[in-house]
Amino acid sequence: MGRIKCIGILTSGGDAPGMNAAIRAVTRSAIYNGFKVKGIYRGYKGLVFNEIKEFGTQNVSNIIQQGGTILKTARCEEFLTPEGREVAFENYKKEGLDALVIIGGDGSLTGARIFAEEFDVPCIGLPGTIDNDLSGTDTTIGYDTALNTIIEAVDKIRDTATSHERLFFIEVMGRDAGFLALNGAIASGAEAAIIPEFATEVDQLEELIKHGFRKSKNSSIVLVAESPKTGGAMHYAERVKNEFPGYEVRVSILGHLQRGGRPTAHDRILASRLGAAAIDAIKDGQRNVMIGIENDEIVNVPFSKAIKKDKPIKTELVDVLKELSI
Ligand code: ADP
Repeated sequence: MGRIKCIGILTSGGDAPGMNAAIRAVTRSAIYNGFKVKGIYRGYKGLVFNEIKEFGTQNVSNIIQQGGTILKTARCEEFLTPEGREVAFENYKKEGLDALVIIGGDGSLTGARIFAEEFDVPCIGLPGTIDNDLSGTDTTIGYDTALNTIIEAVDKIRDTATSHERLFFIEVMGRDAGFLALNGAIASGAEAAIIPEFATEVDQLEELIKHGFRKSKNSSIVLVAESPKTGGAMHYAERVKNEFPGYEVRVSILGHLQRGGRPTAHDRILASRLGAAAIDAIKDGQRNVMIGIENDEIVNVPFSKAIKKDKPIKTELVDVLKELSI
């Protein structure tokens, strides 16, 4: 493999606040270190359909504070097929790219891993997802902002819950991971969280009725992770109506508002550090790793480990929530 001169950067999958800060960091750090940078638009679609443009430092000015991604993001069906990836590789070569930085969730990093193996392309991943569901990193770009958005919304809903003495099930994102629901519940003082990690182990509704979720409370708020494994907030509201009549139940689904908004200081700093570390990794000859953070230190995590979907939920957090919601 020859010397790397030109680095392509793309954002893929679900958008997350802080992706722009990451694009800025990768671009500026690359240019600082003497690389050429090309922005690839709409995730892997930009590679397949050749929507690629050279970036200078000014292309990433004034974006650190913006949610979303200036490179746009997309889900790309074509990239799921070997033929589609072949076309992507043709464009990669045509554009003179020597390496890729991919900012996205586990789907995007899975795609990167396959592309890297098939065509011997050096790929570096950055964990960009509000769900915090990538392994080998304590946190992901966008997770802290989404948590803050959730607690702002829950604080507001609590005013109504308290005034009307209601039980609210609030559905939050997270796919098959309960980090947003669990830490969102702790941070907003909610009574409980229903998370996919425990969906098959226990009946979480019965558990929460047993542990201090009492009618004597004026109001109660339960955060439910949206996931086929939990069945979502509507499912639990129906169950309460049928199995525990007497509660006045309401459901609120926070939906896409959790994905937008100005990134927090935490996410901006994380994205900046990871972005700069991606370029360090390329300089070091690293490939096919996700840059993560562990105990406030930068770590390089092989793609195979990052996408394993086995990131554990700390039981200590579950205990804290239980103890503090009496
Ligand atoms: P996220 O990165 O947020 O998890 P997705 O799971 O939707 O989002 O993945 C984003 C994109 O990554 C997909 O649209 C596809 O282009 C690519 N991708 C995902 N999984 C694969 C795969 N197994 N093989 C090739 N590309 C994939």
